[in-house]
Amino acid sequence: MLTNNFGQGRCLLARLDHGADILHQVSCLAKEEGIEAGVLTAIGALSTAELAYYDQASLEYRKIPVEGPVELLSCLGNISIRDGQPFVHAHAMVSDSQGRVLGGHLNTGIVFAAELYLQEFLGEPFKREHDSVTGLYLWGKNENL
Ligand code: ZN
Repeated sequence: MLTNNFGQGRCLLARLDHGADILHQVSCLAKEEGIEAGVLTAIGALSTAELAYYDQASLEYRKIPVEGPVELLSCLGNISIRDGQPFVHAHAMVSDSQGRVLGGHLNTGIVFAAELYLQEFLGEPFKREHDSVTGLYLWGKNENL
């Protein structure tokens, strides 16, 4: 197990822009605010979305298309560093007009209306690096710890 201790940084609340992609807008916010480590939640509604499932046999993401406008019931994610930039990794649960729920790794989420809570962590951020066992870019060992 790899662990890292952080101090509490700022708490940000934000109303995300109509028509923006959640991941893009949060990563831009992190860059603007100099946030390299943190956690986030968001709720609201999306006009379109694409989720994904990671196939552990083929080590590839399978896309899960989401039909039509949906409620964003829960989006949970974190911020760390990948390729020298703040990188947002998020998962989401969305529901359709009948309340049916889909969930997965969030590839795209176009905001109809959404509210973000972002908690900044202070300290040496995790840096993502390719993991040959899983095929994913996981948090790597930090030389400074
Ligand atoms: Zn994921």
